[in-house]
Amino acid sequence: MAQPVVIRNLNKLFDSPDGKGNRVHAVQDINLVAKAGQLVTLLGPSGCGKTTLLRMIAGFEEPSSGDILFGEKRMNDIAPNRRDAAMVFQSYAIFPHLTVYENVVFGLRLKGLSAAELKTRAERVMELTGLTKMAQRSPNQMSGGQQQRVALARAIVMEPAVLLFDEPLSNLDAKLRETMRVEIRAIQQRLGITALYVTHDQVEAMSISDLVVVMNGGVVEQIGAPIEIYTRPASRFVADFIGKANFVAARVTGAGELEIAGNRYVTGQDDLPAAGSEVSAVLRPEAITLSAAGGEFRGSVKRVTFLGNVAEYLIEVEGQGEWLVDISNPGMAGVFPEGSQVGLSLVARSIHAPAR
Ligand code: ATP
Repeated sequence: MAQPVVIRNLNKLFDSPDGKGNRVHAVQDINLVAKAGQLVTLLGPSGCGKTTLLRMIAGFEEPSSGDILFGEKRMNDIAPNRRDAAMVFQSYAIFPHLTVYENVVFGLRLKGLSAAELKTRAERVMELTGLTKMAQRSPNQMSGGQQQRVALARAIVMEPAVLLFDEPLSNLDAKLRETMRVEIRAIQQRLGITALYVTHDQVEAMSISDLVVVMNGGVVEQIGAPIEIYTRPASRFVADFIGKANFVAARVTGAGELEIAGNRYVTGQDDLPAAGSEVSAVLRPEAITLSAAGGEFRGSVKRVTFLGNVAEYLIEVEGQGEWLVDISNPGMAGVFPEGSQVGLSLVARSIHAPAR
């Protein structure tokens, strides 16, 4: 049965590695709920504490304070192998001397299931993960993607209440990462299992999650659905870390309204500070349009990078500095050459001013 995972006021302090300096506050007062059946990613730059948080949930690391609950049950003092959680590692951690089948049933054997039950469960999971035809292979005759499937199969065959992923796709090439993340998401949803998933890849996090937890320096910057995190970033850090962002000075002129360089925009943002406040607003590159005929701003094209589905422009905007602007479908739209003068307009409802 899937269980919610509840994290309350969780902290982890490590002794300083050289035994002299200050202690490292790797996880600071984190509160978080992953509802039963949700996939929640822990996302952030290197050193933000995401792995430490996951390892505490798994039981590999002891919290300094706070609570970890699966459902109603407090897990803090329960050994990792008794937590009803299974972990999929970046390094796969499968046994090279055992066949795929033996790897998959390894944990079940320790549970003392009957041979028939063992076989039924293993076959079902191997089917689900596309391993049926490889049952008798040795892992070292398999690609990285196939080995990661074995690691996934070995975790889900245990039917854990909680599935934990520690950067599972980091060792795979870009194309395979995309395929595997779709598969992982499909399997997780089909089984209705609660999952916590660590990654530093924001596209991966956006594409598979019900909820994204953005971490920075041991603290939570924002928790939200992918679209919320992207369109309504709570802080400058989140806006910058997720996708690309131009920051512009703006002034609040009324409910949901901003003024940028003398132009007024009805953004619809309902949590702006009081009229008269100075804020820094986020302009996403795709929320700016270019036109030879003019716009609210004028600029000159410094660089065009053709990326296939979009052309990314770097534009020196008069009085504003450099902005990044993405134009989709550049083959159809045509391209403004480097050095040309363009007018720029903003999509008012896409402008967002983070609170911090
Ligand atoms: P990465 O993506 O690089 O793995 P992360 O976000 O997962 O980074 P953590 O591995 O959780 O970050 O580390 C968080 C902080 O805690 C870092 O400053 C790290 O140096 C520190 N840290 C982690 N493990 C220990 C340890 N055993 N002893 C001392 N400090 C540690």
